[in-house]
Amino acid sequence: MVEQKKNPRKSLIWYCVIVLAVMAVLNTILLPQFSRMKTKEVDYSTFLTMLENGEVKQVEKDGDVIAFNSTNENDPFIYVTGAWDDPDLVDRLTQAGVQFTKVVPREESPWLSLLIGLVLPTALLWGAGYLLMRSMQKKMGGPNAMSFGKSNAKIYVAAQTGKTFADVAGEDEAKEALKEIVDFLHDPKKYESIGATMPKGALLVGPPGTGKTLLAKAVAGEANVPFFSISGSEFVEMFVGMGAAKVRDLFKQAQEKAPCIVFIDEIDTIGKKRDSAGLTGNDEREQTLNQLLTEMDGFDGKKGVVILAATNRPETLDKALLRPGRFDRRIPVELPDLQGRESILRVHAQDVKLGPDIDFSAIARATAGASGAELANIINEAALRAVRLGRFAVTQEDLEESVEVILAGYQRKSAVIAPKEKQIVAYHEIGHALVAAKQTDSAPVHKITIVPRTSGALGYTMQVAEDESVLMSREEIFNKIATLTGGRSAEELIFGTCTSGASNDIEQATKLARSMVTRLGMSEKFGMIALETQSNKYLGGDTSLACSEGTARQVDEEVITLIGKAHEKAFSILKENLPALHELAHYLLEKETITGEEFMEILKKYDSPAALEG
Ligand code: ADP
Ligand code: MG
Ligand code: ZN
Repeated sequence: MVEQKKNPRKSLIWYCVIVLAVMAVLNTILLPQFSRMKTKEVDYSTFLTMLENGEVKQVEKDGDVIAFNSTNENDPFIYVTGAWDDPDLVDRLTQAGVQFTKVVPREESPWLSLLIGLVLPTALLWGAGYLLMRSMQKKMGGPNAMSFGKSNAKIYVAAQTGKTFADVAGEDEAKEALKEIVDFLHDPKKYESIGATMPKGALLVGPPGTGKTLLAKAVAGEANVPFFSISGSEFVEMFVGMGAAKVRDLFKQAQEKAPCIVFIDEIDTIGKKRDSAGLTGNDEREQTLNQLLTEMDGFDGKKGVVILAATNRPETLDKALLRPGRFDRRIPVELPDLQGRESILRVHAQDVKLGPDIDFSAIARATAGASGAELANIINEAALRAVRLGRFAVTQEDLEESVEVILAGYQRKSAVIAPKEKQIVAYHEIGHALVAAKQTDSAPVHKITIVPRTSGALGYTMQVAEDESVLMSREEIFNKIATLTGGRSAEELIFGTCTSGASNDIEQATKLARSMVTRLGMSEKFGMIALETQSNKYLGGDTSLACSEGTARQVDEEVITLIGKAHEKAFSILKENLPALHELAHYLLEKETITGEEFMEILKKYDSPAALEG
């Protein structure tokens, strides 16, 4: 552990220093004479002269070379000379009384030479390579970057996820389905004795942020068994075959630890439909998927390995993954309903100090369509706002403000808006609110503001439904479109022109009108014909037309007619209520933010018969 913290470059330098030191030591021990030797080359005649003068002490002959040293103790040289092919050499040497010998080629120890010649360099190279690799791993992130074929599945035990079903609010059906799995892991015998086998895999499907990952963690926390968690993207590797190896490794580990849970998050990354066209095929992904299919077939469900997976794109999954014996159980994790939203808010507010005026039910009603993650975010945003304003508890106002933050972006305090623009925005917002209020079947206005947001919205009209209805009638949808066109209608009515501020309204209105015609069977012209298919139900729902070109043109015409009618309706509502529109707009201009009650108070004056007469 300590080692890993070291700078890899530093340890590489240390390594070199140590290697050099070892080499130096070896040099002085193994080859001492060479290190101290100084040689001097001389002629053969010089050798003969020195020999005659008695200056030669000892002679060695090595092939054609004669080496000798001097009798002079202070002469450090070893003299070398070419061996003259001298037949009398032996006689001369004997005469001079010098020791002489012929050098037998020195036979080194075979082990030593092997050590020096082969093993040592290999070891050195290997060492350097190892260090290099380690420093590379550091740069590539994580010690596993180069550990081929090892899965990085993390093992969680109950204490580590720390989540239980109590942390998951709402989603009762999903919890019910998962509880069965937990029960099986606790007591497999009960199921075995009846002859029931647990499904091998369960697939959690639902939009992002609805708590799929959270649910899987809660299962692990409740079941008290090892929990292997890996994300689909972790299988996608640089090299072909690595992902498959990881899958193999993961299942091997899981079977050793059974009973246990294997959780594959975002399984769509590897579980996409395999293409029949080989050209665009991704070999690596396909191999990984095939391996996963094989492994799921291969292991025994009775052993107690349960595989959970999560995805928000179930329609892209390969059919083979969904067939019986694999992920044969589908657990929908849908966006929370009114009650679900309220309980999610409560769960996340547990650790937050709350003021006395908190009304979670109102917040839940104002956030239809929000996911669990967004609701958690709303609570946190409200707490942050309370801190920013130097308060010690979160108030209802904080919560309402943070709903707008999540849904429409931050309040832009510093931006200066020209008075004329502010006036237009005020009329625009009151236009929405008035049209909504004057129609039946539309959600009451909760709050209107013309404090601009950083998201670009210059104003905002917040409607809060009384309760949550699952079904929307044709009239309700049409009224909603009329409400959306109310802003632009007010601009036209009062200023005789229109501004760019209505772009978002237009987009929403068009979307609604289009779905009325193409998917909800609500147009007189086409009736109950599906003219569009939705491809990504959980991710915004991209649609594609499924009809002929001629029909597509007619669809466009139908949408145009619908929105035109709604626009007309909104315009005439505003025209009939012109005095109310003026008063409300001026009131809003002055106060910048008004509540639904204030709005209704003013509106009521115009509703009474007395006002009509006067
Ligand atoms: P998903 O995996 O479906 O995209 P997550 O499980 O990652 O969503 O959820 C993100 C966060 O949102 C969770 O950590 C949790 O704080 C919050 N959350 C989502 N759904 C719920 C829920 N039903 N109850 C409580 N908290 C939730
Ligand atoms: Mg997730
Ligand atoms: Zn608008």
